[in-house]
Amino acid sequence: MTILPTQIKNQRVFLPGCDRVSVSMKRLDLWHPVVSGNKFFKLKYNLEAASKMGAKRIVTFGGAFSNHIAACAYACNNAGFESVGIIRGEELEFQERNATLRFAESCGMQLQFVSREIYSKKQLPFKIASTDFIIPEGGANEWGVQGCREILSESDSKFDFIAVSLGTGITAAGLSHALFPQQQLLVFSALKGALTDSDFFTFADAKRYRLFEQYHCGGYAKCPPELVHFINDFYKQNGFLLDPIYTGKMMFGLGDLVQNGFFKNGAKILAIHTGGLQAISGMNARLKANELLEIQTEL
Ligand SMILES: *Cc1c(COP(=O)(O)O)cnc(C)c1O
Repeated sequence: MTILPTQIKNQRVFLPGCDRVSVSMKRLDLWHPVVSGNKFFKLKYNLEAASKMGAKRIVTFGGAFSNHIAACAYACNNAGFESVGIIRGEELEFQERNATLRFAESCGMQLQFVSREIYSKKQLPFKIASTDFIIPEGGANEWGVQGCREILSESDSKFDFIAVSLGTGITAAGLSHALFPQQQLLVFSALKGALTDSDFFTFADAKRYRLFEQYHCGGYAKCPPELVHFINDFYKQNGFLLDPIYTGKMMFGLGDLVQNGFFKNGAKILAIHTGGLQAISGMNARLKANELLEIQTEL
């Protein structure tokens, strides 16, 4: 597939109190304005497998704001597959499309809306054809993990810690298998509540990571003023944005660990910027409606 760039930039960043450690970010957000960088990695071997099996159509699942749906629609279009997105929420069918779903449709994805009940049972609203290839929600399978191993490259061996956020945990699981010998993976959950059923545990190398579950800032897709302040300060200091759902919370957590002496002097940390910046406009609309501080998008 041609959608993966060969060179991904690492950039030194400043976090408050981080003068005794060095923090860099791998800018997967730079590839595409809409599609999250880690999603391409999760799709790479799925689409390769589909191609080998002679599939014509990709069928996948997601919520109405799913970055995976947007990425899958885009990648399928690029790779010459038809695509169908099974979307959670039957009431959405006759509502105006949000930006994520509009984008998916503009890439040629056909959307099928199903009730939460049918969605949770992973039932398909149509009969599957022999030329259909199914990708689970969030690209959560072995092929997704395999692709995410390729996020790190040889030149990243100089870092002591790799930091990444967790949704399904597939990206983190892939990274856990790609670490260089002395490295440890720091995983920041974007979800509130116990992760017991997470695919992360199914696929990750258990000896190589530390999981932080206290930096969800109130829950998935919650964005309190302290997080907005953090993202706005980060933007002023570093000149690029963090998304409020994943990378913003990861960097907030990383900053907290730095300030609390988690790292030895001189530690080198590489945090993965997984993208997701298109979530900002929707989040700002919500913050504005509640008369809360908004994420600044211009300096
Ligand atoms: C999907 C996504 C994640 C989480 O990746 P998982 O593999 O599901 O854990 C992180 N950041 C962004 C921007 C995403 O879109």
